[in-house]
Amino acid sequence: MAKHSEYVFLWAVMLVAVAMGIYYGQHVMYEAMVDRLAQDKRILIIYTGGTIGMVESPDGFKPDKEYLPKELDKIMKLYPDQRGKIGQYDLVQYDPLLDSSNMDPGDWNKMLRTITEKYDEYDSFVILHGTDTMSYTASALSFGLQGLNKPVIVTGSQMSISQLKNDAINNIITSLLYASRQDALREVVIIFDDLIIRGNRSKKVSPNKYQAFGSPNFPILAKYGTDFEYDVIVNEDVTPPVTKYRKMWKNQGVSLTTRLYKKNTDVRVIWFVPGINFDPFTDEVMNVSQSGNGRIDAYILMTFGIGNGPESDKKFGRFLDTCNQYGVVLYNVSQCCQGKVDEGDYATGSFLQKHKVVSGNDMTVEAAYAKAHYLAGLFPGNADMQRNAFQENICGELSGERNFELFYNL
Ligand code: ASP
Repeated sequence: MAKHSEYVFLWAVMLVAVAMGIYYGQHVMYEAMVDRLAQDKRILIIYTGGTIGMVESPDGFKPDKEYLPKELDKIMKLYPDQRGKIGQYDLVQYDPLLDSSNMDPGDWNKMLRTITEKYDEYDSFVILHGTDTMSYTASALSFGLQGLNKPVIVTGSQMSISQLKNDAINNIITSLLYASRQDALREVVIIFDDLIIRGNRSKKVSPNKYQAFGSPNFPILAKYGTDFEYDVIVNEDVTPPVTKYRKMWKNQGVSLTTRLYKKNTDVRVIWFVPGINFDPFTDEVMNVSQSGNGRIDAYILMTFGIGNGPESDKKFGRFLDTCNQYGVVLYNVSQCCQGKVDEGDYATGSFLQKHKVVSGNDMTVEAAYAKAHYLAGLFPGNADMQRNAFQENICGELSGERNFELFYNL
């Protein structure tokens, strides 16, 4: 006859088995639910060009219209049992396919128009794009899509999908998997080499390495390894987990308002070097302003360190005065890719402040350039409005005292 202690042991084993069964069952059900939600997603792939779809020709690598869509289909057919992890996708292809070095704000508008026209039909958007100006495009889309409430993913590759060893397949599949997720962040991101980076914080950091993009002044949002993981999780107890980046800025998710970039906006960038001569810049401001034909809207001054310029150089002072005289807005962005501009720190910086040069805080030059364009279009000819709005966190592009995203209380 079994002893009492043996019964207790058998019961304990049975209870553990039942608990494990329930846990495993739930896990399987959860996975099945995630797959089903993924399958239901409708994704629009917007193929704009770039290395990703190029094929070798006697003149070197160039885009080929037919190639990428066919390759994509082939890859998906290789894994029929895994197909459910990715939603249904359609592909629109731009004509011509562009090397992104040939793009201008008119191309940002083209992408903005496609997303806006198809916004209700699709759950997420994947843009295939060249790497060279990808950070500019991602920044521009983030400002252009106010109130965005769907994931927009920009990706590309260092090696074309036609090459034996390439990063194109990984970047496309990672982007499609992410686009199919229920918990994908509803903002513009760059996905590259398994990193998910906020678009307006991204920077191309290498023309050769697979890890071509970084986020030098802001945390990476999430990563793919064997599985997907958010880097900073605040509340893991809800499904899907809520990250501190989920609720980010005032307009997010309200309703989509697309702002196209104005055609004749003129934003220029000056990279400071020791001994820089400002006279040619002063001349160009005077010439353009007095010509009666267009105007320079803004200069982004790429200053030294914490936001300094050569305050003792009279020519510099003359340049700043001339800009103010003609209503040309002046922005201060540091040449350093980490930290932030603080004009009050040195006499050289406060000199800029006195000349109405407003701080770009910790923005990348790519984000600052797109933002300056955006604001010039939004408040044409109103320098004060442009200056004020430039210092605001419009869609996660800068941090600061007025920024609430990092410490948002869930
Ligand atoms: N020049 C190419 C482009 O930006 C480079 C690339 O796609 O990686 O379109």
